[in-house]
Order: sequence, then structure tokens, then C-alpha cells
Amino acid sequence: MLIRNSVPVKNRPPEHWGLLQVYTGNGKGKTTAALGVALRAAAIGKKVAIIFFDKGGEHYSERIFLDWLGRQKIKGGGRIRYLASGADRIDQKTGRFRFGVTPKDRLEAQKGLRFAASALGGRYDLVILDEFNSSLKLGMISERAGKKLLDNRAGDVECICTGRGAPGWLRRRADLITEMKLVKHYFYRGYAAREGIDF
Ligand code: ATP
Ligand code: MG
Repeated sequence: MLIRNSVPVKNRPPEHWGLLQVYTGNGKGKTTAALGVALRAAAIGKKVAIIFFDKGGEHYSERIFLDWLGRQKIKGGGRIRYLASGADRIDQKTGRFRFGVTPKDRLEAQKGLRFAASALGGRYDLVILDEFNSSLKLGMISERAGKKLLDNRAGDVECICTGRGAPGWLRRRADLITEMKLVKHYFYRGYAAREGIDF
């Protein structure tokens, strides 16, 4: 089937970057969707920064690839850089996930905010704030700090905020909201998080 774009090329508005996207909800796919956009943007020469909030430790397989990608030359000057903040949520001894918020979690969130403020200043075309929504929800980032961060971003920087529980003020500012809806998850049948699929 041939799919035609309904807007003729000559009538399309000029490309505009600088919108705010929010990927939220309880279903799986928020972080991975944002990573997909990062690949797409870098491929056409855009500069991408990913700030990971609340993701300390060495568990996240995508970083192996991001490290490799960081050393490659992409046509058109595209690149993906990342900075990670967060205290490790996986207990070294038991391997279990740690819930709750400690002073160290809060301190790490401040570090993430500093990374994010710098990345949003205009050096990047796309900035992904991974687990930003959940960090707000957990009170690790205050509403005031979150608003200040986004309101001070350079005008043409596209921003994607991921994480469960995006607050109302963020939803009102967003140009796009995708709510990942939990329909089924193998977790509830006893499957633990799987390397290469879930982290
Ligand atoms: P992904 O990183 O796979 O895109 P996500 O960013 O949408 O997932 P998070 O809320 O950040 O999901 O949770 C991260 C981890 O929790 C992933 O391993 C994911 O498979 C798992 N997960 C996602 N949704 C659920 C759920 N409803 N119940 C249990 N585990 C979940
Ligand atoms: Mg996530």
C-alpha cells in the first residue's frame, strides 16, 4: 500500500525542533522509546544528550552500545553523549531492587539536574531526561527545580522526559504525551527483569 503524506511538501511548515515530549505511564517502553529517537536524531547529524536520573550502577546494557557509539564519527556530525546520575538501586548482596529515597538519591538527583541544565543550554539538539518524571514523583527533584530547568532551556532544544507519574504541570507544558499503558507484563507471572530486554 502506498501511503501518501497528506500535506504537500511545498505547504509544510519549516522543520521545528524545540518541543517537549513526555513518555509516561506504567507500561514498559518509555526509556527504550526515547533511546530509539536518540538513534534517529543522531543519524541525521543531530547532537543528542541523554541524562539518566536515578540510574546509578553498571546494570544498563544500552550504555555498552552508547559508549561505543560515542567513539564513532557519524555522518553530518551527529553524536550521542550520556551522563548518568543516581545511587545504585540494586543491592549488591541480594540483587534486589531498592525502593524509597535516601539522602544519597537526592544528592545524585541534584547532580543530574546540573548535567541537564548544561545540556539544555543549546549545545545539543535533543536532550533526553530519562526517569525525570519518576524523580519528580518521588520528590527527588522539586517542582520548582523541574520547572526552572525546562523553562530555561534554549528555544530549539527538543526535550524528552521519561518515567512514570509525570506531574500535571509537566503534562500542561508538554507538546506530546505518550502514556504507556500496562496491559500485561511478564513480571506479574514471576519473570525477573531480563538483561538485554529490560535493562
Ligand atoms: P524500558 O526501559 O524497558 O523501556 P520503561 O522505561 O518503560 O521500560 P520503567 O518504569 O523505567 O520502564 O521501568 C524499568 C524496568 O521495569 C524495565 O525493566 C521494565 O521491563 C520494567 N517494567 C516496566 N513496566 C513494568 C510494570 N508495569 N511492572 C513491572 N515491571 C515493569
Ligand atoms: Mg525507564
